[in-house]
Amino acid sequence: MSTKHVRTTGDLVRFGASLRLDCSGCGAARTLSGPEAVQTFGLAPLTHARARAKCSRCGVKAARIVVLPPL
Ligand SMILES: [Zn+2]
Repeated sequence: MSTKHVRTTGDLVRFGASLRLDCSGCGAARTLSGPEAVQTFGLAPLTHARARAKCSRCGVKAARIVVLPPL
């Protein structure tokens, strides 16, 4: 299944996909399930989630986001 149509955190839940956040500051990676992403960022576009994501290790607000297909 393609994850091309996943544009919001709600889509992650709908498709059963996960969201990986890669910190561009320190390289820390964090993976959120769909429901966790909704809990963290609300029902919002992934671009919004990307802008809001803050690294828990170095505090940098510059993450690269990758949509992970359902397992
Ligand atoms: Zn970091």
